[in-house]
Amino acid sequence: MLGLYEVSAGYGKTEVLHDVSFEIKENGIYVLLGRNGAGKTTTLRVIAGILPPFKGKIKKEGNIGYLSHSFALPQEMSVKESLEFFSQIIGGDPNNVIGRFHLEDILDKRISSLSQGQKKKLSLAKVFLKDYDIYLLDEPTENLDPILASEIRKLIVSLSKSKIIIYTSHNLYEAREIGNYVIVIDKGRISLFKPINEIKLREYTIGIRASEDLSKILKGEYQGDYFVINLNDPAEVNSIIQELMRRNINIFEIKEMRNPLEDLLR
Ligand code: ADP
Repeated sequence: MLGLYEVSAGYGKTEVLHDVSFEIKENGIYVLLGRNGAGKTTTLRVIAGILPPFKGKIKKEGNIGYLSHSFALPQEMSVKESLEFFSQIIGGDPNNVIGRFHLEDILDKRISSLSQGQKKKLSLAKVFLKDYDIYLLDEPTENLDPILASEIRKLIVSLSKSKIIIYTSHNLYEAREIGNYVIVIDKGRISLFKPINEIKLREYTIGIRASEDLSKILKGEYQGDYFVINLNDPAEVNSIIQELMRRNINIFEIKEMRNPLEDLLR
């Protein structure tokens, strides 16, 4: 369980979060969305206990693992040394995360010489050294190669059955794919907290790449290689596919052109 009750917080005299309240009782993945500077990182820092709030109450049941956006890593250590150091202070066995986060080839590298993606892998390894009840993950898949990003998504999904995971991402497709709830923060205030599947599509836009000119058959317009169609209901895709197949048109690709979560950030 995690609850924030009229929490205001900020830096120096500047208030960034204003009366933020929400309660999380169910396990699952809570996607924290908001534009740059909205207060996502500040919210996570307040929950993690790193930034004391100006006012309000925070209730937490269980321990918290925090993947911070700015990596808190000892720059002068090698990857291996840092994992041993973390395991001494936090607990856990470095051998359990070295393979899982593909760190074998960079164990002897100094942290200061790592790429952003490599630092992200190490920061993730640090968070997953130990088991927590609540995970706060600030952009866990940013800068990762697609293979590792996909592994991290799977890891987050499997963890979410028994944990509360709050995570931020600029990848709205990823957010919709794995998220259970959306929390939107706008200029330091919570503007929405809802199950993702309740977020109604105002319009459903798909793009089709096919072997023929589709403008003679369907209503829509070309954007580059894609013939773009606005639908009222995703179920209409099926009848479009059938119509194109009936005409012996090869469909190379159909993709969604716009994500409904984008509307929440406007
Ligand atoms: P987000 O994560 O949504 O991009 P942040 O929580 O990082 O937003 O920032 C919210 C606001 O707080 C921004 O206006 C930012 O400039 C300010 N801010 C963030 N960190 C600090 C800091 N350490 N000192 C002063 N202001 C900060």
